[in-house]
Amino acid sequence: MQINLPRPEVLDYLRAHNSYFLFSHIEPDGDCLASSAALGRFLEAHGKTVHHFNPGPFIRVEIQSYREQFLEALPERVPEDSVAVVLDCSTADRLGHFADSVAGMPTLVIDHHSSSDPFGDLRYVEPSAPSTTLLIQLIMEAAGHTITRDEAELLLFGLCTDTGFFRHLDSFSGVAFAAAARLIDVGASPKEAHARIFGGKSLASRKLLAELITRAKELAGGRCLLTYETLTDVATYGKDNRDSDLLYQLLMGTETCTVIALARAETATTTSVSFRSRDGTDVGSLAQQLGGGGHRAAAGCLLEQPLEAALATITDLLANLDFPQ
Ligand code: 5GP
Ligand code: MN
Repeated sequence: MQINLPRPEVLDYLRAHNSYFLFSHIEPDGDCLASSAALGRFLEAHGKTVHHFNPGPFIRVEIQSYREQFLEALPERVPEDSVAVVLDCSTADRLGHFADSVAGMPTLVIDHHSSSDPFGDLRYVEPSAPSTTLLIQLIMEAAGHTITRDEAELLLFGLCTDTGFFRHLDSFSGVAFAAAARLIDVGASPKEAHARIFGGKSLASRKLLAELITRAKELAGGRCLLTYETLTDVATYGKDNRDSDLLYQLLMGTETCTVIALARAETATTTSVSFRSRDGTDVGSLAQQLGGGGHRAAAGCLLEQPLEAALATITDLLANLDFPQ
């Protein structure tokens, strides 16, 4: 795992201005929100004015407590010397309704996705970093900042979120564990991070999980598992009761499965699809073929097709997928 330290221009950008507007991606997760919150505390500790923005919707249970820190619209009067920092977004469209506002401001992008369509004036983008919070931690440390216990908790929460509590990390990822150790040594608790990410779920979320597992269908001789969520599920269980991370974990734990596709009816005519792989199969390029994107092992797209048609599209693609030996 090769992660470059932030270049001096990145630190200069964070020193040079007075008012920082921090933006993160649509349907936020623990990594993008904790990155925003931790970077905001760092900037405030250095006398800066900080505003946090996120386009929402805030769906995941574990992020609800952050919600009130994030504004969903820009203020009427934007201070003239305000600059933007965009967190955890591979492309500008991930900013939702803030994309146009950000396009009009000086912008630093801090991210760990590879991007087919880079944006921003200055970029600290490290595709091998396991989380954006790890890059924020490297920025704080490079600036000589002493990370507080609160900041450490935020940074560990983001790292644990994006690594599935370290289980997505492979050999030679000691740098991520070393970073976690530094956070734990100033008071962040892995036990509390785990409880925050995996606890607090409703019984309905377990029932939805049971439905999705029951529907899982084997493709490519069992190498792929495909499952789906219907509009009826959304009406019955609500989007708040989704627990995709645990779904992937349980399905990946079956004997032959190395690739998962989860299709969700978003509307009567659109379906979102999430892909995961654990054998090196490049689901990022698969998602790109369908107009989406993401990483080699985790990617997604939005299809302009009803669920039934989307399932047929994905079934065809997965049946002909090029699997590593
Ligand atoms: P998830 O399956 O958790 O929604 O997304 C996994 C990864 O795929 C995310 O990190 C994100 O980068 C990428 N992704 C998901 N949906 C889309 C999409 O519609 N467009 C693009 N470009 N990337 C997506
Ligand atoms: Mn992330």
